[in-house]
Amino acid sequence: MDRLRLLLRHVTIWGMIAAITVGCIIVARAGQPWLWVLVLLGVPAQMLNEYNLHRHIFHLKPPRAQWAFDLLYRAHYGHHDFPTNRELIFAPDFVVFPGLVINFTLVWGILTLLGTTSRNGSTSRRVGRSSTG
Ligand SMILES: [Zn+2]
Repeated sequence: MDRLRLLLRHVTIWGMIAAITVGCIIVARAGQPWLWVLVLLGVPAQMLNEYNLHRHIFHLKPPRAQWAFDLLYRAHYGHHDFPTNRELIFAPDFVVFPGLVINFTLVWGILTLLGTTSRNGSTSRRVGRSSTG
């Protein structure tokens, strides 16, 4: 219970829950059942994303500029120095939320290129839609 309480007191967890909820609403309203496959593909995609972020960004060679070192320290180095520090267990807001926006934008762009979004930007059903309506 203590771990669940720890998890739920972190603002980025609530941000992710909100993003997942909004994503599910968008997919449910789109009327394209195949979009749920993307949700399943999102799990390994996120694992790959986290691995690459951890491997190639979080473990960059320590920067010389103090501000950059401090930023990386707060983003991740500190977690390795103090793995049980509650403030350093999760990635900070300035990493999670921009990552969320970038990933959402990439997926939205790919879906748009595949022709699954309408002109007003919402995901919609193309098959069977008349050009007058
Ligand atoms: Zn690490």
